[in-house]
Amino acid sequence: MTTKILIIEDNKGNLEVILYLLRQYGYKLITAENGKDGIKLAKQEMPDLIISDIQLPQLNGYEVARALKSDTNLKKIPLVAVTAYAMEEDEEKILSAGYNAYIAKPIDPEEFVCLIEKELPLKLRLSKQKKFSD
Ligand code: MN
Repeated sequence: MTTKILIIEDNKGNLEVILYLLRQYGYKLITAENGKDGIKLAKQEMPDLIISDIQLPQLNGYEVARALKSDTNLKKIPLVAVTAYAMEEDEEKILSAGYNAYIAKPIDPEEFVCLIEKELPLKLRLSKQKKFSD
């Protein structure tokens, strides 16, 4: 079973960093460059986790979260924001919009990978998979 992660990010540089970091762990990665396509892909692919930028064309990250969290099938998927807004008031806004966690840009590689691992459903975590193969 391959863990599938959807990344919604319009900044190509940031997207490349995220893909580079997550590819090493063997995740299946799918991407969208705007909020509207992101929601569409989420419905089609039913990923195990979704990472989304906040400032996005065609539905921003808040609207993406609202759409996903109001959908019966999609609301259980962990949702992580990657955002340049790192101030306290924004953290509250991001979490109240439906995000389970967020990480500020520029992305710290170690922190990012740890956060994604932590937000994944328990049965999909790499540490768990390692235990099974022992
Ligand atoms: Mn953006």
